[in-house]
Amino acid sequence: MCDISNARKSFVWVIWVVLVAQSRASPQLDLPQYEPNSANYPQNPSFIPNPNYSPYNGVYATQGTIPQQTPEADRGYKDIGKAYRGDVRSLLQALELQASQQCTNNVAAQWNFETNVNQATQLEALQAQQTYSEFQHAVWELLNHAGNLDNIPDSRTFRQIRYYSVIGPAALTPDQLDRYNRLINDMLAIYNTASVCSFNDHFHCGLKLQPDLNKIMAKSRNWDELQHVWTEWRRQTGQKMKDLYEQMVRLSNEAANLNNFTTTADYWSFPFESPALELDLEDAWTEIKPLYELLHAYVRRRLREYYGPERVSRQAPLPSHILGNMWGQSWSNIFDITQPYPGQNFLDVSPEMLKQGYTPIDVFRLAEDFFVSLNLSAMPLDFWQGSIFEEPRDRVVLCTPSAWDFCNRRDFRIKMCANVNMKDLITAHHEMAHIHYFMAYKNQPKVFRDGANPAFHEAIGEAIGLSVGTPKHLQALGLVPVSVEDTAVDINYLYQMALDKIAFLPFAFVMDKWRYDVFNSKVGKEEYNCHWHILREQYQGIKPPVLRSEINFDPGSKYHIPANIPYLRYFVSTLLQFQIYRALCQAAGQYVPGDYTKPLHKCDIYRSKEAGNILRQLMEKGSSQSWRDVLFQATGDSRLDGSALREYFRPLEDWLRNENLRTGEFVGWLYDGDYCKQSIETAGLQVYGGFYNACSQHFASIFILFVCLLVSRITR
Ligand SMILES: [Zn+2]
Repeated sequence: MCDISNARKSFVWVIWVVLVAQSRASPQLDLPQYEPNSANYPQNPSFIPNPNYSPYNGVYATQGTIPQQTPEADRGYKDIGKAYRGDVRSLLQALELQASQQCTNNVAAQWNFETNVNQATQLEALQAQQTYSEFQHAVWELLNHAGNLDNIPDSRTFRQIRYYSVIGPAALTPDQLDRYNRLINDMLAIYNTASVCSFNDHFHCGLKLQPDLNKIMAKSRNWDELQHVWTEWRRQTGQKMKDLYEQMVRLSNEAANLNNFTTTADYWSFPFESPALELDLEDAWTEIKPLYELLHAYVRRRLREYYGPERVSRQAPLPSHILGNMWGQSWSNIFDITQPYPGQNFLDVSPEMLKQGYTPIDVFRLAEDFFVSLNLSAMPLDFWQGSIFEEPRDRVVLCTPSAWDFCNRRDFRIKMCANVNMKDLITAHHEMAHIHYFMAYKNQPKVFRDGANPAFHEAIGEAIGLSVGTPKHLQALGLVPVSVEDTAVDINYLYQMALDKIAFLPFAFVMDKWRYDVFNSKVGKEEYNCHWHILREQYQGIKPPVLRSEINFDPGSKYHIPANIPYLRYFVSTLLQFQIYRALCQAAGQYVPGDYTKPLHKCDIYRSKEAGNILRQLMEKGSSQSWRDVLFQATGDSRLDGSALREYFRPLEDWLRNENLRTGEFVGWLYDGDYCKQSIETAGLQVYGGFYNACSQHFASIFILFVCLLVSRITR
């Protein structure tokens, strides 16, 4: 590295010229927070990351599709780096303007594409993304040559530099980067083009994950059909990408090295700023586990009653194909056959909204009113003029709900094809929470305009959703006539939540526990699949419906694995949302520990300025400080902890405990035979065969990939 001495002015001048030249040709996409619009995720939309959304600084183009550097761009920046002898603060000032401008250009191009899908906008979006990636890489190069940055005295400056200097796979050499991109492209091509044949009609093929297979997994109660779909999906996806995945792991680790991390696991942990992240998460999981086990035992009993004891045994892990979801990550879809009080469904105000003549715009006005009632600002005029609230009829729009920050401190928009129903009412509030977050940190430097850690944005949106979905709030809106005080309704409501949020936690945990073990070389390719099933059994208490082997690669059947998108943030945000909610509710006086008349799950923070203050404190710092400090200053918590979630579900937990006692359930699970064998010969005989189809696997220009990525923005 060069030492920092004089030549400050000339450096700033040179970087200015080059950055300006860059920006003319370029944009960036930054920070749309993608939401799901999957039909089976009724109340709690979750964060869909853009595959190119970096885990640490909200900057795009560090995962998956990073375009290759042009040699010219490379050389140019290296020269500047050599010339650099200047002052770091001046450098940051120059970067600030350029980074914001690059970001604005790119976001605008992505917005134009997503709100008007055609070849021209697609091409522009792709070019914009490429230019932004080049900008990022150039900045990284520059900082690599900027001298010894260890001597920077002030931590805020150091933090900015640090964020600019972690760019993930974009740090690879052009050749390596090209290979890395190709590997991910190839895996996603397999994933996105996979289809299976129907169980009932072997000649009816071409069933896609969305909507066909997801629907079958959600609705079918035919054991054999579910097993067929579960097995076939894995045969058509993961099984075909095991070799590719191993190669990708090696390159991903090399990229981590170039960013000064030991492995990709360290790189992914970086934004969580914890010296022992894995232990922190394990501790948090240990706090939740007793509740999960109660839920697990109850669900197993109900499924045993439904499918019979010969299929669902009393003490074994749950068969993973009958949980209503391809990966067993949410069990919401088996609510109907497991609900505590049949016939006592929880509140749905959709009919009332229609009856009262609500329009989609009204839904967003309600959301605005919610935040204004917390003493947060109204949405600016630009927001109302620029956003899309309903699906336009004259063009194709990607309808996944999302919130957009155009990086210029004034343009913030929502894109959502809203309908008048309760689900979209909550989603509208969730999206607007993202906008408030954008607005709260808009005066931070560009690299700090992001959540305090990768889970914060989502956690805050979800915490707001918890409040909005309460009967109390819906009553305040005039959508529920009288207050509903009914234990059966209450338990059903919490149970439905638990099937989604509690069941999800060990799944999310295993996703990255497995990958950390892979990245850290604790398991090799010859153990990939069986290790996956060991962890699934250990944490989730679920097992595959048929014997698996190392021929299979079941992790690859979940989008985020081939796309190499970290998953930890979902685990963290699921816990964190309850911690934030608890703090807001206590401030609002709506939750008082020990007071049974004010339980956490019934809290609505509507009209509480105190809760609004906490929200503002949480959001305005962006990522300029450690998330622990941000959380502590606003809520008094400084660690991830499961107690708020346990408190929220307390009535359900008591109910589940009593119910399991009443029926004498075994709580926990015992391993009951081989789930995965290494040997092909022994396992292969029992691996379900299935049917082949002729769906072509043609592929992989970056353009196809781009489309693939856009269409497969599945959440969690
Ligand atoms: Zn969100």
